[in-house]
Amino acid sequence: MSIIKSPKQLLLPFSAALLITALIMAVCLGLGGEPAAILVDGVQVAAVTSESQGEAIISELLTKQSAAVGNEVYFQEDVTVSAEAAAGTKTVSRSDAAELLAANTTLMTHGAAIDVNGQPVVYMSTAKAAENALEYLKKSYLPADSTMTVLDAKFAEKVIVEPTEVKVADISDLNGAKLRLKGEGQTDAPVHVLVVLEKTKTEEVPFKTVYQTDTKLRYGQTETKQEGSPGSREVTIQMVQTNGVETARQEISSNTLVEAVDAIVLQGAVVQTAARSATYVTDAGMIWPTTATRISSYYGERSGGHTGVDIDGDMGDSVWAAKAGTVVSAGYNGSYGNEVIISHGNNLKTRYAHLKSISVSAGDEVEIGQEIGKEGSTGNSTGSHLHFEVLIDGEQVNPLSYIK
Ligand SMILES: [Zn+2]
Repeated sequence: MSIIKSPKQLLLPFSAALLITALIMAVCLGLGGEPAAILVDGVQVAAVTSESQGEAIISELLTKQSAAVGNEVYFQEDVTVSAEAAAGTKTVSRSDAAELLAANTTLMTHGAAIDVNGQPVVYMSTAKAAENALEYLKKSYLPADSTMTVLDAKFAEKVIVEPTEVKVADISDLNGAKLRLKGEGQTDAPVHVLVVLEKTKTEEVPFKTVYQTDTKLRYGQTETKQEGSPGSREVTIQMVQTNGVETARQEISSNTLVEAVDAIVLQGAVVQTAARSATYVTDAGMIWPTTATRISSYYGERSGGHTGVDIDGDMGDSVWAAKAGTVVSAGYNGSYGNEVIISHGNNLKTRYAHLKSISVSAGDEVEIGQEIGKEGSTGNSTGSHLHFEVLIDGEQVNPLSYIK
């Protein structure tokens, strides 16, 4: 077969030729016909080539907008097509005519308003869209915490969806509606979502410490009679969150799982009794350091000056710390015999000499009234007594300025 076509094969069939003729005629009629006008409230906004083209432009605009909005869109104005354009006006292109039409009309739809306390806050394309926006807003305030049970989610204000005619330009989409209802960019939101939540949790109950006076203990001494231990309870709490912020909290129920056990601490009695006793605390914070009360030699007495006070007593009488402190030294020290020195801070020290026995060691922390040894007569001593000194910066001072 030859690839060169014969002239006969190039002839068009008769029916096809007729169709082309009809099309050419139609185009000629259109171009050559009188222009039509698109009128808005009776005023011409554009001249187009034909009445049918005018109708097409209008219906195309409404169809496109209806699809975009999701609801039937119509003009607020009276839009018509006139078979005759105003004299001397030039026709415009289809797209220019559509733009002129859109610019001179207001598109409307049968949408809905979200009214808050009677005031429209958001316009939506349909009532259904408005309901969805409100649900979306509520959901946005629900907590992510899965241990919380949502009992209720409601609006603090009177919020209703009101079907109404809405300008297409005023319509918000879902996200836009949420932002507007949340008061984006405003000091307060027009709508407040109240979410009521419930949570049940187990929590520790701390134990209490109860102090009891015990006269067998010396002043300042404590003794734990019973160790405390925490308990636990299951508690159900109801909370109200307003736009995501907790505004109320209430304990609904509490169930003790384990009872807490109080700690009981015994305390030495804080009583001021007669001077020269273990319970008489001077302004200097010291107590008399032994049971005996008679002074056999005062500070400064005797040739060369006595460096402390001698408190007469029996061999083996208890000797205790006049004040809490740290034992600096404990042991035999020449003429002092068995001796304990306690530092009380602030360069204040006390010395206890001629002891029969010592019951503390250097470095020990001692409490006020704690026994440190027994009275004796070791070192340069004639008969049992306690030689007691108070030292400031290493210099002996009158102990009776400190103990009474
Ligand atoms: Zn002495």
